[in-house]
Amino acid sequence: MASEPPVESERVPPMTTRVTDLEPTAIREMFNLADEQEGDLVRLEIGEPDFDTPGHIIDAAAEAAHDGATHYTSNAGVLELREAIAEKSKREHDLTLDPETEIAVTGGGMEALFLALLAVAGPDEDVLVPTPAWPNYTMQSHLLGANGVEVPMPKADDYQLDADRVIDRMSADTAAVVVNTPTNPTGRIQDLDEIERLVDAAAEHDAYVIADEVYKTLTYDDGDPTSTAAHFDKPQNMLVVNSCSKQYAMTGWRLGWLAGPEPVIEQVCKAHISTTTCASSLAQYGAIEAMTGPQEPIEEMYDAFKERRDFVAKRIDEIPGIDAPYPQGGFYAFIDISEFGSSYDVASKLITDYGVVTVPGTGFGEAGEGSIRISFANSLDRLELAFERIEAMATDERR
Ligand code: PLP
Repeated sequence: MASEPPVESERVPPMTTRVTDLEPTAIREMFNLADEQEGDLVRLEIGEPDFDTPGHIIDAAAEAAHDGATHYTSNAGVLELREAIAEKSKREHDLTLDPETEIAVTGGGMEALFLALLAVAGPDEDVLVPTPAWPNYTMQSHLLGANGVEVPMPKADDYQLDADRVIDRMSADTAAVVVNTPTNPTGRIQDLDEIERLVDAAAEHDAYVIADEVYKTLTYDDGDPTSTAAHFDKPQNMLVVNSCSKQYAMTGWRLGWLAGPEPVIEQVCKAHISTTTCASSLAQYGAIEAMTGPQEPIEEMYDAFKERRDFVAKRIDEIPGIDAPYPQGGFYAFIDISEFGSSYDVASKLITDYGVVTVPGTGFGEAGEGSIRISFANSLDRLELAFERIEAMATDERR
């Protein structure tokens, strides 16, 4: 019988530090901790709609498959989809795009961001990220050999974008600045004047502004759904990341796009040949239907998110000891729990002792210490239960 192979033979050759240096994300850590628990957990850590994709979108993709849309498409995406994106961008965000030259369809917003960074951020160049922020901005920068630089925003001002703090960090090494509004994790809409100052300062440094607008259509109250790029007449240094994931409940389809000036989109499409060649053909046909077909199911999802936002904001207000910036868009609330301990300890305790899974604020940069993020992309019943449990934690800790 063959003996066990010696351990040395299991050693694999070295891998790149670009990859091995990456820490597991806070979401993943909480996910793992949650998996070890028994009983009924309320899962508020996941950043995706709880709704399934509306049926007419699924039908359109299936029909396209039966009709033979099972091949590679152009690197920029099928023209019909780019036309639908241009039409939707005008209708919903007042952004004028040339479907022939200013849009690249990608594998989700994540690949749009990756290709944007690949095109504009060179090795050791800086990508400035106002924090707290979605961790992928700094992670992707690191994967590309660039520096993802966290620039903390003031907690006292609900993490409102403070352009001066970012401009102070700009140098000849700055390749790009990321602006995400509405913001994951805070739910805040960033001040347009501050963004304008950033766009101007970035231009002076020959740097790009990457506007991540995947939550733009989930803007509530009198928030402005106009694309940031539309406000400034599409400046040449601005790239816009968008996606079907959140608005149409299509996270698993992996369908997003990058919009920007023709010279950048041309290079991005060239690079796309080597990454995935094109987004999934079937997802592209589903996306056409999502944008051009019946909008009622999409409006219903929006209304449900808004109702949940109202509920969550009310409950946060009612519970002594916690507080949060008022969520103006997206489906997150960033709750200050600093009275009860560190972000990590409180998030862990909420899982093990109270059955609610959240994400520690430090998963969104050092600036997030003292808070936890919840996603309210969950049913009202489950949110009610979650807040009963969060209230129980707050009451116990205050005793
Ligand atoms: N941008 C932000 C701020 C996000 O939160 C996400 C997903 O969570 C994305 C972009 C990318 O989403 P997708 O790749 O599913 O389009």
